[in-house]
Parts: sequence; C-alpha cells; structure tokens
Amino acid sequence: LKSMLARPDLVCEDTLVAGAWVQAASGNTFDITNPARGDVIAKVPDLSVDEVAQAIAAADDARKPWAALAAKERSNVLRKWFDLMMKHQEDLAIIMTAEQGKPLAEARGEIAYGASFVEWFAEEAKRIYGETIPGHMPDKRITVIKQPIGVAVGITPWNFPNAMIARKVAPALAAGCGFVIKPSELTPLSALAMAKLAQEAGVPDGLFSVITSSDAAAVGKAFCEHPAVRKLTFTGSTQVGRILLAQAADQVIKCSMELGGNAPFIVFDDADLDAAVEGAIACKFRNNGQTCVCANRIYVQAGVYDAFAAKFKTAVEALKIGDGMSDGTTLGPLIEPKAVTKVQSHLEDALSKGAEILTGGKPHDLGGQFFEPTIVTNATKEMLVSTDETFGPFAPLFKFDDTDDVIAQANDTIFGLACYFYASDLSRVTKVAEALEYGIVGVNTGIISTEVAPFGGVKQSGLGREGSSHGIEDYLEMKYICTSV
Ligand code: ADP
Repeated sequence: LKSMLARPDLVCEDTLVAGAWVQAASGNTFDITNPARGDVIAKVPDLSVDEVAQAIAAADDARKPWAALAAKERSNVLRKWFDLMMKHQEDLAIIMTAEQGKPLAEARGEIAYGASFVEWFAEEAKRIYGETIPGHMPDKRITVIKQPIGVAVGITPWNFPNAMIARKVAPALAAGCGFVIKPSELTPLSALAMAKLAQEAGVPDGLFSVITSSDAAAVGKAFCEHPAVRKLTFTGSTQVGRILLAQAADQVIKCSMELGGNAPFIVFDDADLDAAVEGAIACKFRNNGQTCVCANRIYVQAGVYDAFAAKFKTAVEALKIGDGMSDGTTLGPLIEPKAVTKVQSHLEDALSKGAEILTGGKPHDLGGQFFEPTIVTNATKEMLVSTDETFGPFAPLFKFDDTDDVIAQANDTIFGLACYFYASDLSRVTKVAEALEYGIVGVNTGIISTEVAPFGGVKQSGLGREGSSHGIEDYLEMKYICTSV
C-alpha cells in the first residue's frame, strides 16, 4: 500500500492520542484487511480504556485555549486542513479503497465530500451568532450567546471512513470543542491519515485524538462514563445507537445519532423512466449498497413497472464488479463476510415468499466478498427486506397502483432517514414530498448528500442534523444573560 502513495507516511500504524503518535501501552495491535483481496494491509494499536481517558483529559485541556482564539484563527486552521485533504486527495482515496473496498473513483469523491465539510465549517466558525431580545422590564437587557459545549466524542462506521468523521470533527473544532474519535475497527487508516493532516494544519496537540480499538463496546462505555464528555455523536446502526443513548443518559450527555434507514424509492407513472433508472443505480448501488441512504425498497407504479424493470436490468448488468483499485470498477466487494450473509438471507427470504430473480442472485465468480448485483420482482411487504435494511447490492421491485397506498407503505417503517421519488406532476410532487415521513426527500434525484444541506433522520433513524448552518448547533450551548441596568 505504501508504495502506491506520494506520501507513504499517511499510512499510520501509530495513533494520535493526547498530542503524541503512540502504540498501545499494552503493545496490542489489530489487523486491517483489504476486503477485495483478504490480505492484511496494516496493524494499528489496540488501545485500552486508560488511553481513552488520557485522550479525553487532553481534549479537555486543549479546548479552552482553542475556544479562546478569535473565530477566524480557528477558521484558518480548518481551512488549512481542508487544503491538505484536497492536496492529498489521491493518497487518501487509495488508502480508503485499500481498507474499505469502494471503487477508487468513489473514494476520490468521498475525500472531496469529506473535505467539503471541513471547508464549510471553517466558514461557519465565524458565523456563530447570538441574539438580543427586548427586555421584559424597563431595566432588563437580554442577550443570548452561544458557547462550545465542551469535549465531544464520536463513533463512526466503515462505509464512509472519511466523510463521517469530517462532518463531526469539523463543526466541533469550528465551535471551539475538543474531539475524540473512535473510527470503525474495519477502517481506521483513513481516520489516522486525516489526523496526520489535521496536525500539519495546526490543530493543537491534544485537541483531537483517534482511538483505534477492537473493543468498540468498551470504548463506547468509557466515552459515556468520563465526566468531561458533554457531547456524543454517533453514526451507525440503530441497535448500537440505542445502547449509546441509554449509556449517555447517566451523565445526560447531549447526543446526535445518524442511524439506520430503510429508504423507499418510488417511481410514479409520470416519471422520466431513464432519469429514474439513473437515480436508482446511483442510490441503490453506490458503495455497493452500503450506505444508510441507499434505496432499500423500490416501488414502481403498475403502468410503468415492466418498462422500468427492463431498463433497470440493462443498467445493472452494465455495472463492472471488481477490485476497487482496478480501472473502470463500479462495484467493489462487500465489507466483510457477514455482509454477504445478510444479502443472501434477504434474497432467500424474498424467493421463499414469491419473488423472482430478474438478474444476479448469487455470489460473484470473483469469490470472497463479491456478490452479483441482484434485482428481484414481485416483492411484497411480507418480506424481510421491507422492514430491514439490506446494506448490499439487492434491489427488490414492489408494484403499486395508488398514490395514497404507496405513501402508506413507504411510511410503514420505524425508520425515517432518506426517501426518493420520481414524478412530474407538480401537485403530486408537492403532496408526496410533504407526506413522506423522512428527514431527507430526493425528488427526481437519487443523490442528496451535500455539506450545504441538513442531513439527518426522523423516527428511529436519528437525532440532530449534520452539515449546513444547522450542523454546528449540536456542538454549541445557548446561554441567556439577563442584565439589570
Ligand atoms: P455497522 O453495522 O455499520 O457496522 P455498527 O453500529 O455496528 O454499524 O458500527 C458503527 C460503529 O459503532 C463502529 O465504529 C463500531 O465499532 C461501533 N460499535 C459497535 N458496537 C458498539 C457498542 N456496543 N458501543 C459503542 N460502539 C459500538
């Protein structure tokens, strides 16, 4: 891996804790494997909860002088971090593809996407405005100021090893907080490379630490038990989100949660079918189906069902499966063996309940964690895939007749992150967008992620929003000052 990079030192086998690059005190490490080939590409320190406490204490010390800087000075450091991420985009992308498996073109896109949050929050650092309120008595003056919440901790998943970190750490640092991140144990190399560049950009020692650990549950607990922690931000499964929320209750830690989804993708009779197919490919198969905003259930109105299915099949069969490092690959491997098992279980369940395979349907000839992109028709609400996120290249097509009925089906889930629909009638577009119980609605588009808009879910998909001018609020506290004059 190092031999492919302009900056081989961006592959870090130490981790940044309390301002120093270290090994675990225990000497323990764990392996990072390439999901396309199964070989070990690096070993990183396996830290203990003692090192978690050191990192939090250092962040608590470092945050005070950091918050005391003029906002523009914090902004300049973040801006420099953004510039370094973009300067080393290719190296960061190669590291990501090696540990995560996504095609290199997607990895490059993710680096730019992650960096865009750093750029955005470098700018927002300067716009943490308060307010003045006319007093309630002649001698009272009321001012509202916003201050950094304190030490923030984050836990992130493997599907976006850079961007999920960037959109938490950047607003926290912009606001004047310290931050301790625990990246996924499957993809810590991207986090470590980001930390190296953050240090080069001038992020002060101790302000930002990275906890590499194979024991996520212990780290999560240690985060919630440390008295200096005031904010917990998590992206991952709803199941783990519930555990963390319960643990955070003891110290009443403010939480942001980006949890699972079960995105419906609806194609109405009046949709532009070619655009709908393009959107479905982008939103179902990006990252090989492993995103929390991937279409999980594709509903197609009866009048265009067969036409859509035929075009969709052609587009899916044109996808190129392979090692993400190879030219032209559009679909990489799944992240780990249990991800393949999950796709298979959703497929088998669907087939046992009357679904029919239109294309794909089995492990790919490449073996390992490669699976054929699969479409089934005749999907119904009795199938597992209608309630559970597949997180893989499995696209079930449901047929519907009536608008109210499809809205009811789309909303019949505990989740509420992203949804998508294709239609052209203006009145229908407006009504359907309002009726869908989701935090994000894509209308005639399958791609909705951008740093300028608020990303987040309703219902059991989460709490809080990331990105946009709202994304910094999670790292701020409001203080109301009542002055008698
Ligand atoms: P996924 O299914 O996407 O892997 P998880 O929710 O299991 O989602 O993982 C997301 C992140 O949560 C990872 O960094 C993982 O290590 C971490 N994690 C898993 N279990 C726990 C736990 N009990 N407490 C805290 N973090 C956890």
